[in-house]
Amino acid sequence: MSHPDYYKILGVSRSASEEDIKKAYRKLARKHHPDLNPGDARSEAEFKKLSEANDVLSDAEKRKNYDTCGDPNGPGTQPPPGFQQGAGFAFEDIFAGFGGRPARSGPERGEDLVHAVRLGFREAFEGTRLNLRVNRSEPCLACRGTGETNRKQEQCRTCQGKGKVAGGSGFLSFGRTCPDCRGRGLRVPACSDCDGVGRHARQEAVAIAIPAGVEDGARLRVAGKGEAGRRGGGPGDLYLQISMEPDARFERKGPNLYVKLPISFSEAALGAKVEVPTPEGRPQTIKVPPGTQTGARLRIKGQGMPVPRSTQRGDLIAEVELVTPMIQDERSKDLLRELADLNDAEVRKQRSGT
Ligand SMILES: [Zn+2]
Ligand SMILES: [Zn+2]
Repeated sequence: MSHPDYYKILGVSRSASEEDIKKAYRKLARKHHPDLNPGDARSEAEFKKLSEANDVLSDAEKRKNYDTCGDPNGPGTQPPPGFQQGAGFAFEDIFAGFGGRPARSGPERGEDLVHAVRLGFREAFEGTRLNLRVNRSEPCLACRGTGETNRKQEQCRTCQGKGKVAGGSGFLSFGRTCPDCRGRGLRVPACSDCDGVGRHARQEAVAIAIPAGVEDGARLRVAGKGEAGRRGGGPGDLYLQISMEPDARFERKGPNLYVKLPISFSEAALGAKVEVPTPEGRPQTIKVPPGTQTGARLRIKGQGMPVPRSTQRGDLIAEVELVTPMIQDERSKDLLRELADLNDAEVRKQRSGT
């Protein structure tokens, strides 16, 4: 079965952090909550969609499954019964996690980050060193990523220990289980450094060596530079998604480089020594054999792209392009006519197929 675009429903990007998702959901859930829109079928439907989207995206495992195979339950599984019907959703579900209390108790690895990097031909050929500024998170030092303090449980401030949130105005104008203590009236005080989130957003300078010969579409992993883990879990990884700017001169196919080699009619007919541009910028002289046709490929071994993390290189392949001259002067025309008389019989024969 197919699933809707949960990111679109919550209005967040695919790289949204857990915090972004939580925020977006809270905002929209308040707007469409059935208690605030009694009898409004559209709001109710909207609210069900929001709950489903939040259910998937706020759960690291479901989100990963959804991102990788389009199904929050992983490949080849069915959704839990009743999930789609959305009948009788519980308030506890809706508010779970609102107080910053982790839904699970074990260590959780941080999310991976993907950073797009566009490289010019020279950078890809020589390799380069990038200094990126990456928006990532670090575990909160004060609470070691737990979001909680070591202090004893104390009366929940949200509900003054009653376990229920009642009265008030607006969104809270109905009685329900306190989301922060889940009805117990007591809670371990949240870490004041990180407001119970367990990590801090920060921008970090990350220096990365890009190997010579890196290919378009390559994904380079930088271990440990993703989002911080939770409750002692390790950090995720940072991935660099490489794309290449096309080069005006060299076309790349795997490790081989192709370059156009314009040659004149006489060079092609008589043979010549011509200079071919190389990626290093030092032209290399090669021999064009007599009778070379347009489209002929002349290969220079080992002058192509480096193979990443090896000492090997691909080949440089010069593709011959015959340049037909625009003849203006009478003397050249006479010479060519004379040449035609001597040489064109063979071409005429090929053309008539005899
Ligand atoms: Zn903290
Ligand atoms: Zn409470």
